[in-house]
Amino acid sequence: MIAQNFEYETPATLEEALELVADGSAKVLAGGMSLIPLMKLRLAVPEKVVDLRRVPGLNSIRAAEGRLHIGALVTHYELESTPLVRRSCPLLAAAAASIGDVQVRNLGTLGGSVAHADPAADYPAALQALEAGIRIAGKSGERTVSAAEFFVDTFTTALEPGELVVEVSVPVEAAGNGVSYQKCDQLASGFALVGVAARVAKEGGKVSMARVGVTGLAGSSYRAENVEALLAGTAGNAQDVTRAAAAVAEGKEANSDIHASADYRAHLARVYTARALRAALGTAG
Ligand SMILES: Cc1cc2nc3c(=O)[nH]c(=O)nc-3n(C[C@H](O)[C@H](O)[C@H](O)COP(=O)(O)OP(=O)(O)OC[C@H]3O[C@@H](n4cnc5c(N)ncnc54)[C@H](O)[C@@H]3O)c2cc1C
Repeated sequence: MIAQNFEYETPATLEEALELVADGSAKVLAGGMSLIPLMKLRLAVPEKVVDLRRVPGLNSIRAAEGRLHIGALVTHYELESTPLVRRSCPLLAAAAASIGDVQVRNLGTLGGSVAHADPAADYPAALQALEAGIRIAGKSGERTVSAAEFFVDTFTTALEPGELVVEVSVPVEAAGNGVSYQKCDQLASGFALVGVAARVAKEGGKVSMARVGVTGLAGSSYRAENVEALLAGTAGNAQDVTRAAAAVAEGKEANSDIHASADYRAHLARVYTARALRAALGTAG
């Protein structure tokens, strides 16, 4: 199908872009990988589309004060392939590399993916495990929210009408931490039936830090703090991992659709959590 007619704006500054989206009626265009199909299907019928791609400063990646600051327009391919990201935040690079196919990764952006908040998207699992910060700009100023606050529900975020995602920041991974992103993908699209991101550290033979982020299972991504607590302080052996991973779906309402039932998704979550933890522990220290 062909999209309904719309006005097309190409602001040259962030201020101009914020002005154009201020009343909340326009749709922002980044990579277009989610928005354009929605417009063609007429599931989105915006009267105005504001293309962010000429706004300077939204496509940089820089390290400062122990964090990586990644502009909203940085593409999945740039995250997957930039040496600074691969070295400083291998978990995010791995999540980016697992997205869709090469065409989608060439055009799709980090900011577009987080703003879209598809419950099966890959980044949210990594961003929850990384305790990422999402920097949001609006006409009245800027604010930064944690990933845990940002991802509210299916296709729902903490963004208010008229606000844009401008940057995502993640910690530079400490030397010796082990990380892994493991997903069971829906074969036609690559989206996660379930995806689990794990970060661990070991000290004196014990797990001293564990962070687990989950996508695909429920309406929104989440940090599995119960799994983290069960693993912390253990030796991180096979039994410890299986026992901790068993708790990953507890208290969550698992999604059920044509791709997987709720029970099967919960089962996948336990299996992929154990896999991610084992892989992360295998490289920790
Ligand atoms: C065939 C196919 C396979 C895919 N497979 C996967 C997969 O395996 N894993 C996965 O995670 N994703 C997958 N995707 C989705 C892909 O990652 C998209 O790139 C992503 O969801 C949206 O990013 P975008 O830059 O294209 O955003 P757009 O499509 O341009 O925008 C998406 C939404 O976000 C809003 N938006 C965009 N940028 C901003 C911003 N800076 N601030 C506020 N709002 C903004 C737009 O208004 C729109 O509502 C797939 C997509 C396709 C088409």
